[in-house]
Amino acid sequence: MNILLNYEHAVRLGMFLSLFIILAGIEFLFPLAERKCGRLSQWSVNLSLAFLAGLFLNILVPLLAVGVALSAAEHSIGLFNIIDIPYAAAVVFALLMLDLLIYGQHVLMHKIPLLWSVHRMHHTEIGLDVSSAVRFHPIEIIISMLIKMLFVVIFGIPAGAVIIFEVLLNALALFNHSNLKLPKAVDKHLRKFIVTPEVHWIHHSDIAQETNSNYGFNLILWDKLFSTYRDKPAVDYPLMRQGLSEFGVEKPLSLYQLLMLPFQGNKNV
Ligand SMILES: [Zn+2]
Repeated sequence: MNILLNYEHAVRLGMFLSLFIILAGIEFLFPLAERKCGRLSQWSVNLSLAFLAGLFLNILVPLLAVGVALSAAEHSIGLFNIIDIPYAAAVVFALLMLDLLIYGQHVLMHKIPLLWSVHRMHHTEIGLDVSSAVRFHPIEIIISMLIKMLFVVIFGIPAGAVIIFEVLLNALALFNHSNLKLPKAVDKHLRKFIVTPEVHWIHHSDIAQETNSNYGFNLILWDKLFSTYRDKPAVDYPLMRQGLSEFGVEKPLSLYQLLMLPFQGNKNV
């Protein structure tokens, strides 16, 4: 755990780059659908968004969730820092709670118009690939971080759990956004536990009822528990249209247009 804490940035960046390269290779070999746009343009837009989000995050909330967790532990603030619970049990509970938190937050991003005006940028992707995992508006990344920091303080989430969760979330997001066709049997068994590409792609369909389902990022449990799980798209994956019809589903938006989206008129899905 100490190694994780000391090398957090290096571990996360290393994981991200290696998984990105591996998944990009596999989706090239076994695509779920034909690509809608070139890798160079799609990756440069999505990776620029990730870079900008990281930059703003470090300037505006440099402490981040891990810093808050360490500080809360030092001052015995938050549930897990007060009650007597084995560290391993606290980490497991914390991981489940963090996953439920981001599920709930994602539902609210769709239901509250102001939050939707920020989150909808993620849904303008007209053809998902591995890089879509980091296609979030910097404002959404900052809102997410502030919510997570508050949650970490209230529940005294251990710093180790925060790091493990962020590494897992990052890995699963890369996996389930990727344009990757798993063998049917593998998908069938995997989706009993986690969100697979076929499950998350349904959330990115241009059909509103499908967009309003499959909100989970890691465990499938929450969508099943709260009846937001959808197992099949209306149109099969190779023909499925992704994106938001209000912004067009044929031509990708530019980086500038994407960054301006939260400041334009809102239409709910
Ligand atoms: Zn969404």
